[in-house]
Amino acid sequence: MKITAVETMLLRIPYRQSGPPTGFGGKVWTTLDTLLLRIDTDEGVTGWGEAFGYNVNEGTKATIDTLIAPLCIGRNAAAIGELMADLQRKLHLFGRGGPVIYGLSGIDIALWDIAGKCAGLPLYRLLGGAGRRELRAYASLLRYHDPAVTARLSAEAVDRGYRHVKLHEIELAPVASARAAVGPEIAIMVDTNCPWSLAEARAMARQLAPQDLFWLEEPIWPPEDVAALAQLRRAGLMPIAAGENAGSTLHFAQMFAAGAVDVAQPSVSKIGGISEMRKVVALAEAANVSVVPHSPYFGPGLLATLHVAASAAQDMLIERLYVDFETPLCGDLANARNGMMTVPEAPGLGAEPDAAVIERYRAK
Ligand SMILES: [Mg+2]
Repeated sequence: MKITAVETMLLRIPYRQSGPPTGFGGKVWTTLDTLLLRIDTDEGVTGWGEAFGYNVNEGTKATIDTLIAPLCIGRNAAAIGELMADLQRKLHLFGRGGPVIYGLSGIDIALWDIAGKCAGLPLYRLLGGAGRRELRAYASLLRYHDPAVTARLSAEAVDRGYRHVKLHEIELAPVASARAAVGPEIAIMVDTNCPWSLAEARAMARQLAPQDLFWLEEPIWPPEDVAALAQLRRAGLMPIAAGENAGSTLHFAQMFAAGAVDVAQPSVSKIGGISEMRKVVALAEAANVSVVPHSPYFGPGLLATLHVAASAAQDMLIERLYVDFETPLCGDLANARNGMMTVPEAPGLGAEPDAAVIERYRAK
């Protein structure tokens, strides 16, 4: 079964949010953008993938189109491990993170979609899942810097059935107001996106500790400083989470060896796809570390995350970015009900991106 085509599609879908306009990476978002990837084969089986993401989508798209796709044409779509290892080696000189690995992630996800379809099995079963069909989701709010907004949206998320709410805040006030709004029974996580030195992180962790955080995420700059993260964790103020910016399985191995995290957060569209994600999960289990994937995705990236989580021994939380699309990309699958998400049952990823949505919102 040979790969005959790799096509990338950049979608820009407007979204509703009840807070003021915000975004990550130095940009205010008016749309939520998804970089889809489709692999066709000479046997007529087609697979879908998703590559990270956000404001670098056009760079990732160019990297796939000009660098990665030509190396995939004519290769055996069923030999996933062999092909991904070969691509990683051929492309390592262009970066062990960023668009190259994001692009490879999309390829790997699409190949696993094809593998599931060929086997006639949903991916979680192909991966040895025991049949956990419902997964707990957490509401992942954007960053607002505004105590009134975090209080209102946290309470709203709890009303919608979430028992876990994550804030992307870097000050005490918006965290404290959210805690006051939801009460002591709801788990609150704080994701800071790598703002602080070790000394600053220690001081902030002491300030935040009375808010009883479920975890503090990426408190240290730069994200690869696992030694500083481990030092902060040893202070024992709250559980520490990180990993969405790790470019390889080896980075996670180093994190675990250093004792840097309580919660590992591999991102299926950033780490190298389902193949690498499974290695990270295995390493985490061996190191007695919890896994909660980074998954601000609404298409194949989310579906791949659901299948990996459903096939794992541990019961993982699923990140659901707390926004509402104008039009959903994969039907109802990205929506949590009473804080639970359903793992699809159809072969492969279990759902195709909606062709009408692609046609309407495709930008490139
Ligand atoms: Mg994060």
